[in-house]
Amino acid sequence: MPEKYQNFIDGKWVDSESRETFENRNPANWEEIVGVFPKSGKEDVEKATESAVAHRDEWANLPVPERGLILGKAGDIMVEKKEKIAKLMTREMGKILKETRGDTQEGIDTAYYAFGESRRLYGVTSPSELPNKTIYTIVKPIGTAGIISPWNFPMAIPTWKIFPALLMGNTIVFKPATDTPATATKFVEILDEAGVPKGVVNLVHGPGSVVGEAILEHPDIGVISFTGSSAVGRRIAEVAGKNLKRVSLELGGKNPQIVMPDANIELAVEGVLWGAFGTTGQRCTATSRLILHKDIHDEFIDILIKKAKELKIGDGLLESSDVGPIINETQLKKILNYVEIGKQEGAKLAFGGNHLTGKEYDKGFFMEPTIFTGVEAGMRIEQEEIFGPVLSVIKVSSFEEAIEVANDVEYGLSSSIYTANLQYAMAAIDKLEAGLTYINAPTIGAECHMPFGGFKNTGNGHREGGKWPYEVFGEIKTVYIDYSGKLQKAQIDTDITK
Ligand code: NAD
Repeated sequence: MPEKYQNFIDGKWVDSESRETFENRNPANWEEIVGVFPKSGKEDVEKATESAVAHRDEWANLPVPERGLILGKAGDIMVEKKEKIAKLMTREMGKILKETRGDTQEGIDTAYYAFGESRRLYGVTSPSELPNKTIYTIVKPIGTAGIISPWNFPMAIPTWKIFPALLMGNTIVFKPATDTPATATKFVEILDEAGVPKGVVNLVHGPGSVVGEAILEHPDIGVISFTGSSAVGRRIAEVAGKNLKRVSLELGGKNPQIVMPDANIELAVEGVLWGAFGTTGQRCTATSRLILHKDIHDEFIDILIKKAKELKIGDGLLESSDVGPIINETQLKKILNYVEIGKQEGAKLAFGGNHLTGKEYDKGFFMEPTIFTGVEAGMRIEQEEIFGPVLSVIKVSSFEEAIEVANDVEYGLSSSIYTANLQYAMAAIDKLEAGLTYINAPTIGAECHMPFGGFKNTGNGHREGGKWPYEVFGEIKTVYIDYSGKLQKAQIDTDITK
């Protein structure tokens, strides 16, 4: 019998009101049901929000360092459970164990960051323009935060949002992706075990079109933190805008790696293999475009293909696998369709492109790492987020052309350049339109204490990571204390022009 999971509302594990369920299956072996989950509706979001509102004061009234201690404890529990979580995550979304351990570690790092931040939520104090007057700021919670997360980082991304939201004193309604509800449930269990009071964190499983929409529309949810596709992000911005809700959006990417002739070629090949095919290319920061200078193009492609052939595709639970399956059948079909589009557009399929079948692969959704050469700027495979192991190689004649191609997309999340020339490196840092720029390193590999997010259609200007999300989840209050004993008028008493 597959394991049965539930929603977590008002501190109790419960079925959905409708009792409907959905299955979560292993993308490496579709016959394996990882768990059965409640297919919730609007009424479940209503209950979850009622609980979140009812427990606001209890949580917000705890001193911040006390909230921090609880979140630090959650980090300790995650350390104990790291291996179990990683295995479950690999079973439900496919990426290899090395990466699911990393995903869990990012959650641990984020817990400890929140613990540290709990004694550092500094405000601003400032001199006043008037005598005998003091000015400073404090930060209050917004109230209840709606958290909507994608499937590709099932632990890291929810922790990036929920730890800051909780530390700032908010209560939570959390809807994880339907492809990764089990890892999300483990995270909520850990928060409960660590001592977050009952009712503060509420978990509602179910489809975005129902549960997600109900969160967006709910008048008692004051801030939405969302990571996912730009299409859904636009919809969220629209609804949140209509209701004047604060919203933080982290969306798609089409990330370039540039390689100049003076680069260390072996290192640049290693970088692109990891950037393009790690997590089976299913990362918002995945290297989906390789921009090669013409002087090293042919040599680079030869080495790249030779190395790509050595990658072992397989079940992520096997330590021998380098690349796991695609998340589900719909996504596999979408990626294979992009392979057809690439061929029709006139790009050369230089490596891979096939759905893998046969004994080892028949039960899952596996495909070969895929490399297109001869890709022209403007082709669909060069512009659109494929979210799979497909790399488009564009040949350029100069540094200036490389930058122009790199920037000519709607997204601006990550970027990379391999070069030994300091002038190229510094100019790339200046010119690349992306929230992240790596020098002599791949487009993936963000660290939890630094800001993470993108320019252009990758988001709406907020950042996750480090201290930045704490701003998303707080309301600033400016306090003026006048101890002069008389009415003082700003801008009027101090008018030096009179
Ligand atoms: P998705 O947009 O399909 O879904 C994300 C979440 O939104 C899921 O929980 C889904 O159920 C929910 N959702 C769907 N429709 C909704 C609606 N109408 N209202 C409210 N919620 C709704 O994305 P995905 O397939 O889970 O993830 C892949 C995408 O996420 C890619 O585009 C990738 O680039 C992006 N991503 C971005 C970052 C980043 O930090 N920039 C990180 C990881 C993934």
